[in-house]
Amino acid sequence: MANSFKALLVSRDEAKVQSVNRVEMTEDELMDGDVTVAVEASTVNYKDGLAITGKAPVVRRWPMIPGVDFAGTVVSSSHPDWTAGDKVILNGWGTGETHYGAYAGRSRVKGDWLVSLPPSMSTRQAMAVGTAGYTAMLSVMALERHGLTPEKGPVVVTGAAGGVGSVSIAILAKLGYQVIASTGRPEEADYLKGLGAAEIIARDELSHPAKALGRERWAGGIDSVGSHTLANLLSMTSYGGAIAACGLAGGIDLPSSVAPFILRGVSLLGIDSVMAPRALRVEAWQRIARDLDATKLASLSTEIGFDQIEETARAIVDGKVRGRVVVKM
Ligand code: NDP
Repeated sequence: MANSFKALLVSRDEAKVQSVNRVEMTEDELMDGDVTVAVEASTVNYKDGLAITGKAPVVRRWPMIPGVDFAGTVVSSSHPDWTAGDKVILNGWGTGETHYGAYAGRSRVKGDWLVSLPPSMSTRQAMAVGTAGYTAMLSVMALERHGLTPEKGPVVVTGAAGGVGSVSIAILAKLGYQVIASTGRPEEADYLKGLGAAEIIARDELSHPAKALGRERWAGGIDSVGSHTLANLLSMTSYGGAIAACGLAGGIDLPSSVAPFILRGVSLLGIDSVMAPRALRVEAWQRIARDLDATKLASLSTEIGFDQIEETARAIVDGKVRGRVVVKM
């Protein structure tokens, strides 16, 4: 077909059984929007894994092209901010959920959803960061707004060998923090130390039911696990500290008590990347370009082709992906 491109399409039959197919599409079949982008790179986030495997109700319009992140070049635009040739990044805003997402040669979206690719970064590097890395940066910025500095004490990062975790460690270490990395994969200790972790602790240390208050071990933290792990992080945060909660890889519940909040003045900072306002996104991407070391970014990312998206989606929900995965489109 002339002007066609490859796309990954998830569909559901009448019995709500999900299937994933590689199809050929044309621009006419894309959804409404004022900017059309040639997708050069994408990535597989945990959420993309959930969408493709159907393990959680991420997709809310059928059929759907999954993929919450892309970087590419504007092909055509009727939006005042963008013209053909601009390099852009998209994270979230419902793409891959209610609006056709990234796993296609072309994507048509609202120009208001896009941010400029930082001049020092390639589209591949932007997707090595992806939503996971941009969420790590949003978490760091929230902790900074709370007043956290390296002098206040160590910071803990959970789900350390995952995407959010790996990028969080690299950024925090570069900013001068002493990073304690919690992982269920002790074999990744050298990898985590290479990213800048000063200390590695076992996932099991934080996965049991939390006491109301524990020994004060860190001034702050970034948690992508949730459940008992987040409760333990809060109970071990030192006076006046804060934990940025951004994920649920270990569970959506929070079996905690109010003790850390009312007896230690600890704060729980909620992080959402999907609907984050544009100004915050622009700031986050500027900070990523400045505060994330390119060598470390290369060391925490691997590249796959379009045909490997499905198998990688299954691996990420099984906790088997290390760091970040770039999809070359
Ligand atoms: P990854 O799968 O790359 O990382 C998650 C990590 O969590 C794993 O690598 C593993 O780390 C750890 N983990 C996995 N399963 C469990 C478990 N059962 N108990 C404890 N730890 C576990 O995912 P991402 O980094 O892409 O995303 C992490 C989380 O953050 C997800 O829940 C995702 O939905 C959420 N997220 C939220 C965003 C937001 O806007 N708030 C944006 C982006 C992500 P290790 O092996 O080192 O223990």
